[in-house]
Amino acid sequence: MTKTISLLGATGSVGQSTLELIRKHPGKFEVRALTAFSRVAELAALALEFNANLAVIGDETKLTELKERLQGSGIEVAAGEQGLLEAAAYPSDMVLAAIVGAAGLRPTLTAVRRGATIALANKECLVCAGDLMMKELEAHNSTLLPVDSEHNAIFQVFDADHAQTVSRLILTASGGPFLNRELTELKNITPALAVAHPNWDMGAKISVDSATMMNKGLEVIEAYHLFPVDKEQIDVLVHPQSVIHSMVEYIDGSTLAQLGSPDMVVPIASCLAWPDRISTPAKKLNLAEIGQLTFQEPDYDKFRCLALAKEALYIGGAATTVLNAANEVAVDAFLKENIPFLAVPELVSRTLEKSDMKAPHSLTNVFEIDQEARRLASSFLDVYAK
Ligand code: NDP
Ligand code: MG
Repeated sequence: MTKTISLLGATGSVGQSTLELIRKHPGKFEVRALTAFSRVAELAALALEFNANLAVIGDETKLTELKERLQGSGIEVAAGEQGLLEAAAYPSDMVLAAIVGAAGLRPTLTAVRRGATIALANKECLVCAGDLMMKELEAHNSTLLPVDSEHNAIFQVFDADHAQTVSRLILTASGGPFLNRELTELKNITPALAVAHPNWDMGAKISVDSATMMNKGLEVIEAYHLFPVDKEQIDVLVHPQSVIHSMVEYIDGSTLAQLGSPDMVVPIASCLAWPDRISTPAKKLNLAEIGQLTFQEPDYDKFRCLALAKEALYIGGAATTVLNAANEVAVDAFLKENIPFLAVPELVSRTLEKSDMKAPHSLTNVFEIDQEARRLASSFLDVYAK
């Protein structure tokens, strides 16, 4: 049986890995809708290659170019936020949500509301509006499969029928490119250094999040929403080789782990084929060659973003929405070389301190909180300007 797939964020790192897998399994998958934000030429080429039904470009100024490139192909085109929602609403069995940031929230929700199976890479959705997202998933009988490698690992070894027998989730973290640098050395980190991850090849925003370890903080929040455990049951363990992708500890002392090469095609394949499995081009594990797997506790003083994210989860209410919005503003400013690396946690912390933590009562309210936090964080940028 052919599975129909729509891919939100087709031109990104996760999007490209997904299409690489679809290419390798002709006849198994059919592409329905593809979206991008700015890379219009790449989007048009992918829409033609995969014979998509609909191609959507987020940046409205690029619609004319998209139309020209797809003229005579019979592929429908659209643009802007409305277009992205159209892509999410387009009938398909599965939507792979791989837009970066809170910008993915509305499109992902649109797919949830039509009961599609969601393969979720866009973790910011859950950090920003986890409680409301999970309610919508239940109300619309939509299935969520985690693409994020740690959560995919947990998903594979979590005994959902006996959730009460789980004592702990252990999220592994590579520690990013600065694991072994002193705090004082982090002052002059450039965007080029921050995006050069030792194990994973990813988009710019998540690469910076990995360097600050905010990524692991966002993942703790993500895990809290995805799995039926308490906040206290989620731990982070630094494991620089990224071979163990995460673990589930059970009350009897058994700990189950999922291992593999650090290549996103593995968790993506697990979602695409679920509950079946498909082959991938990922290098098979050779543990004898790797030799040693090492572990250490995270350094919360050096990686303040990880501590801030955990704090936000404990505070609850609007805190994680604010945290995510402030982090997006900070990472964008850092990538544009407007603020230094160590200003990222400063800006997030200051925005959290000055924000109202009242829990969002509706999705409209989530967007209001998100916008207000972005406004506040942006107003602090001058304080940290380089
Ligand atoms: P990339 O930056 O590589 O790609 C992001 C995609 O989203 C691109 O297709 C981009 O379009 C599109 N996009 C960017 N901004 C907007 C917007 N405002 N509206 C609509 N579309 C937009 O990111 P990644 O693929 O690395 O990450 C995607 C998501 O997956 C993130 O949430 C990340 O945290 C998560 N993730 C990623 C992993 C990885 O290995 N990369 C691992 C685990 C999770 P364009 O390029 O055309 O502008
Ligand atoms: Mg991850």
